[in-house]
Amino acid sequence: MTTRSSRGKPIRATSPRVPSSDVPTLVLAAGRERSLLRGHPWVFSGAVAQPPRNAELGQTVRVCDAAGAFLAWAAYAPSSRIAARVWSWQQDARIDPEFFAARVRAAVDSRAALLPASALQACRLVHAESDGLPGVVADRFGDAIVLQATSAGAQRHKHALADALLAATGARTVYERSDSESATLEGIEPCTGLLRGPPPDAALLIEEHGLRVEVDVRAGHKTGFYLDQRDNRALVRRLAAGRDVLDAFCYSGGFALSAALGGARSVQALDSSEHALALAARNAEHNSTTQIEWLHADVFAQLRKARDRGLHYDLIVLDPPKFAPTARLAERAARAYKDVNLLAFKLLRPGGLLVTFSCSAGVSAELFQKIVAGAERDAGVTARIVQPLHAGADHPVSLSFPEGEYLKGLLCQVST
Ligand code: SAH
Repeated sequence: MTTRSSRGKPIRATSPRVPSSDVPTLVLAAGRERSLLRGHPWVFSGAVAQPPRNAELGQTVRVCDAAGAFLAWAAYAPSSRIAARVWSWQQDARIDPEFFAARVRAAVDSRAALLPASALQACRLVHAESDGLPGVVADRFGDAIVLQATSAGAQRHKHALADALLAATGARTVYERSDSESATLEGIEPCTGLLRGPPPDAALLIEEHGLRVEVDVRAGHKTGFYLDQRDNRALVRRLAAGRDVLDAFCYSGGFALSAALGGARSVQALDSSEHALALAARNAEHNSTTQIEWLHADVFAQLRKARDRGLHYDLIVLDPPKFAPTARLAERAARAYKDVNLLAFKLLRPGGLLVTFSCSAGVSAELFQKIVAGAERDAGVTARIVQPLHAGADHPVSLSFPEGEYLKGLLCQVST
């Protein structure tokens, strides 16, 4: 039998077992069990020799190797490239409300142990595969929790997850935002709306390092706010004093506001979304800041314009959207990342700082660094990495699931 700690990797699969007939069983092709044995939680459709019979979308199935040995319990998604996502490698596990309560409790406890108390009211409580809950993201904004259940299994168990989140936190509301692209790829209908408790405030305010931020949980991007950049916004606040700052792809203005509060000489912020800019302008009011110039513009066009006009900055933040959601789209994305970083390097004064990110799952940290190096070369400048950047401790990365590290960033300084 496979031996495993509650969430640990399998030690060894031995003694083939004949699957019982009552639970649908997915049988892998010979030799395709290796990644599961290493603790990676995805079964790709190409690895399936025999799909489970009569399994519904998101139903828990038994995953076996070609010899019939138990490997894992997983949620089945027949039309997805990821045919099944593992809930547990423990043969005696039951995938029921108690299971979800225990996983959610462990995730919430880990935040309480790692984050400063001031961050616990606005943080990611569950980070999907890296918290042992594939396709489940839960972000806390005060009394409200926004749940993304974008895998078939997560969707099937979303009510148990909502109950578990309320029980583990004492929050009052769970609002669902399962309307991302990954939901569609998984074969589930986009789903949004109130799951538990009173409706969240229309203008829900959170605090981040003393910054007051309005979060639009109903119509904002992702869960309403990019919690993953909390530490990096604090970094920009520390670095901004006396500098001319440009926040490209500003969304609700987190970096721009941080720079203003950090004592920047000037702050310009760009976004192509009117909705984002309206939110950003309200956030400026919440923080009594009138200094920021908000521009409704395409970053690529605006940076070219700035270059042609001979404008310069001391600190530029580039936090673009996911140009490459999957590895297949990485090449096209690489060109976009290179273009925008090249333009930014050209706009920086000697000694200037570039804070540049990629949140594309399809672009590795190594590839991203190469792209930025290419941009440096072609811009004709010399720059050094002074600090690699990541999401905060509430976005952990499971060692057996490197895909969990989607946000990579570099703080670069241009030579004087
Ligand atoms: N830095 C932000 C998050 C940025 S999300 C924060 O800390 O909260 C990416 C933003 O880029 C979105 O608001 C999106 O509207 C904007 N965007 C996407 N493509 C763009 C383009 N070509 N020009 C300007 N903004 C763009």
